[in-house]
Amino acid sequence: MRATDDRYRREQARFNLAMRLIEHEARTGTIRYLTGLQDDRIRKLYTTYFKYDAQPVRRRRGRSPTRVGPLVRTPQRALESGVFARLLLANGLFCVDRPPGPNLKANVDFGHRLCECFESFEQLIPHHSLSFEWGWNLLQSIRRGDELGIARCEKCRVCYVFDLLSLPRNACPACLLFERERAVPFELMSA
Ligand SMILES: [Zn+2]
Repeated sequence: MRATDDRYRREQARFNLAMRLIEHEARTGTIRYLTGLQDDRIRKLYTTYFKYDAQPVRRRRGRSPTRVGPLVRTPQRALESGVFARLLLANGLFCVDRPPGPNLKANVDFGHRLCECFESFEQLIPHHSLSFEWGWNLLQSIRRGDELGIARCEKCRVCYVFDLLSLPRNACPACLLFERERAVPFELMSA
């Protein structure tokens, strides 16, 4: 009986994760990777629960973004990426000491943690430009460790993401914005 209960709980968590990911407009490939569900099952969930809603969830087609440039292209983006990266680190989705961190494939617990990070991020920065898929791309890039680094500015203590391959290294985006506009968005400074 207990084995059946455990299996039921695992299936329920997987189903809940898929629903949560669809709400965040994750792509089918991302949902498949994180839940272990087959594509046709994911499509059925979408059609059954989201397609005919009063406010239907958009379904993103194609592959997830893999370029890292847009994550750090502007100071605003580099700061948003920094806030999201800090949330990912605090939730154990990657390790600085022992990269890349926990195995994420079909790891339902970590999939839920990733959703929690994104939901916290949305609350911290209501007018953000980073979508869930770009956040997923950010996490994968940080875990690979060959393109993106995380830094903390010694002057203003803000955490930001920078391109490891760009020389000289980008200046702190918060200081840059402050110098440029003399006002950094409060929500980014305090996140
Ligand atoms: Zn700074």
